[in-house]
Amino acid sequence: MTGVPTAADDVRDGAGPFRASVLTLYPEMFPGPLGVSLAGRALEAGRWALEPVQIRDFATDRHRHVDDTPAGGGPGMVMRADVLAAAIDAAAPEGDRRPRILMTPRGRPLTQARVRALAAGPGAVIVCGRFEGVDDRLVRRRGLEEVSIGDYVLSGGEIAALVLLDAVVRLLPGVMGNDASGETESFETGLLEHPQYTRPPVFEGEPIPPVLLSGDHGRIARWRREEAERVTRERRPDLLPPGR
Ligand code: SAM
Repeated sequence: MTGVPTAADDVRDGAGPFRASVLTLYPEMFPGPLGVSLAGRALEAGRWALEPVQIRDFATDRHRHVDDTPAGGGPGMVMRADVLAAAIDAAAPEGDRRPRILMTPRGRPLTQARVRALAAGPGAVIVCGRFEGVDDRLVRRRGLEEVSIGDYVLSGGEIAALVLLDAVVRLLPGVMGNDASGETESFETGLLEHPQYTRPPVFEGEPIPPVLLSGDHGRIARWRREEAERVTRERRPDLLPPGR
């Protein structure tokens, strides 16, 4: 296979909206929750496009098998490289510059930085595993980037793909109502976000921190920064630079 896309290709070439092809045994799971609210409205408005692809359509035997027993023995079934490769080649022919992603708990954990880079690119081709996962040769032969959404095991890659797409789609131009709200969000500044409050001013005896009602924007910004650092130190010290 030639022309395998790299991270450097994650720059939209002006050729239309972000386009996601999702290879799955359960295309009926899409758009699922991405068909409502911000993502759903954006999908309807053509700000992004979603193409579920039924992997089984690329099986070659009479029974449309997509999996087989693991080489070396052991429990479960493994998705076949040849069937998945045919599905990828049909969804992303030669010259398609979209990154190819395999959802897998063995992948690099998804980060907001990776989500931002994907949102700036032309789209993604996403492979959803099932069973014990996919034949490892597919990863190398089709240049797949292995991505995990966390240190736990789901029954299939579909929900992981929905998570990835939800995170990306909300960053696409014109999708979020208030674009500025993204800038102070958790991970964007390297910190978790400060706590948020709204009406009523007192809830079950607990008031909103008075500084937030002071009207002093300098003090409010300082308080938010300090709170973001405190929460990050308490919950996610791994996000802080060494010595902070
Ligand atoms: N045997 C695999 C292992 O131990 O790494 C787990 C296979 S899991 C039951 C089936 C599929 O769910 C995987 O191929 C992958 O596509 C998806 N999946 C499960 N957990 C995931 C996670 N944390 N992140 C992304 N995808 C995941």
